[in-house]
Amino acid sequence: MGEIVTVGGCRVEAEARACGYLTLPDFFADGQSVEIPFLVVNGARPGPRLYVQVAQHGSEVQGLEAVRRLLEEIDEKEMAGALIYCLPNPLAFRERVRATMFDPRPGGMNRVWPGDPAGSPTERMAYAVWTELVKGADAVVDLHTGNRHAPVWVFYEAHGVSEKASRETAERSEEMARLFGAPLLYVETEPYGGRKTLRACCVDEGIPAIVPELGGAGYFDEEIVGLVVRGLRNIMIDMGMIDGEVELPERQTVLKWTADPKAAGVFANKGGVFLPSVRLGDIVREGEEVGVIYSPRTFQVVERLVAPQDGYVFSVRENPVVNAGDRVLAVPEIMRVLEN
Ligand SMILES: [Zn+2]
Repeated sequence: MGEIVTVGGCRVEAEARACGYLTLPDFFADGQSVEIPFLVVNGARPGPRLYVQVAQHGSEVQGLEAVRRLLEEIDEKEMAGALIYCLPNPLAFRERVRATMFDPRPGGMNRVWPGDPAGSPTERMAYAVWTELVKGADAVVDLHTGNRHAPVWVFYEAHGVSEKASRETAERSEEMARLFGAPLLYVETEPYGGRKTLRACCVDEGIPAIVPELGGAGYFDEEIVGLVVRGLRNIMIDMGMIDGEVELPERQTVLKWTADPKAAGVFANKGGVFLPSVRLGDIVREGEEVGVIYSPRTFQVVERLVAPQDGYVFSVRENPVVNAGDRVLAVPEIMRVLEN
């Protein structure tokens, strides 16, 4: 027998779906309310709750089309538990910006979790989302979108980064990151974002959570959308919410994230024009040449750049014009390679 769930004040029968708004009245200077849209799919049997959000950074919309397709695919009559979706920052979304005038810079809404009912406008919105939608969840996926040519990767944290997060929550987050099925996993080995990201707040609360960074900002990429649908489906299968076979890529590379961007970066010490000799996804050795800087006046090489450590070419600067101190490459360390 299914059960009725009430989420965000919205009562949803078993085998049904419903949309609602979290409403914060008297919000804007003109007296209008802010309304945060959400959707709930309630299955035919009791079970776990998966919370998925898109575009807390309002311009990062790649996940939307994947959620639409997933919602089209799943059948609440065959599903267990509940899927909760939210667009937590409608103000940034409608403006197509990463952060609004209300959001802190540069981290945007992702530096205010779990929010504050007496705080800034963004903290109030986050608090409503956190208390009404996130806190009752058994797993959280916070979908972001990186630069146009950025790879797809999933961010999670290692056990021990937070004193509050249990080993079980950390291991479950790692498993979700693997199940998402991106070719790259990025494991946080040092604290990041002052524990004010949604993901960090979740794991501190005992809720496994991941942040997929999807690449392709500003448009829908068929390949990425397909990957996200598969990833969310894999997680739901693993949670026992839907039937099916988990599908994973043959190999996934786990990179080590460190708080100091200098640790894995290659920086220009001389200004000029950057010409890389490696590409995204290459594996390099410490001391290996990865590019040069040449003078736009003489066309002579003014600096040869080398990899600071063995690593994976995770990002390559696109704009070739560099000044002294600009980062041109990121070459994080490979922690392990998962063969599936
Ligand atoms: Zn983001």
